[in-house]
Amino acid sequence: MLCPKCSSDELKVLETRAGKVASTRRRRECLSCNHRFSTIEEVLREDLVVVKRDGRRESFDRTKLAMGLRKSIAKRPIDAEQINGLLSETLRRIENEFDSEVPSRVIAEAIMQRLRKVDGIAWLRYASFYEDFRDLSRFAVEIVNLGGGGKGVKGGN
Ligand SMILES: [Zn+2]
Repeated sequence: MLCPKCSSDELKVLETRAGKVASTRRRRECLSCNHRFSTIEEVLREDLVVVKRDGRRESFDRTKLAMGLRKSIAKRPIDAEQINGLLSETLRRIENEFDSEVPSRVIAEAIMQRLRKVDGIAWLRYASFYEDFRDLSRFAVEIVNLGGGGKGVKGGN
């Protein structure tokens, strides 16, 4: 753990609070620059199994999900913090709803739903990476909607 401001590793914990759903929130202070910030520790569910469209099962991989998201926000005005928050929030909901197995479609749609509110272009990119996204007519309508807003389409890849 490093200070987000000066990268010092000399930190002091000011306060520790139990958060909701197996998480712990800590208020920290950097001893070098006195910057104060909060961290959240979460228990990761390692046992969650993702059921693919063709019925194959694989263990849940947060890193893989994060990589797909990062690809979709490339050069978009979204910071890593926002994406981490979106991912955590999505996963928390899924872990609450599903005991051991979750369809890959549910995860992708939960992410898309949130991503869409953050950035339309990133959402479209994510949707197009996602192999199960087959409803092309809906896709086309969304492209038309985005075009009208002029939300920096030319800034894409
Ligand atoms: Zn510092």
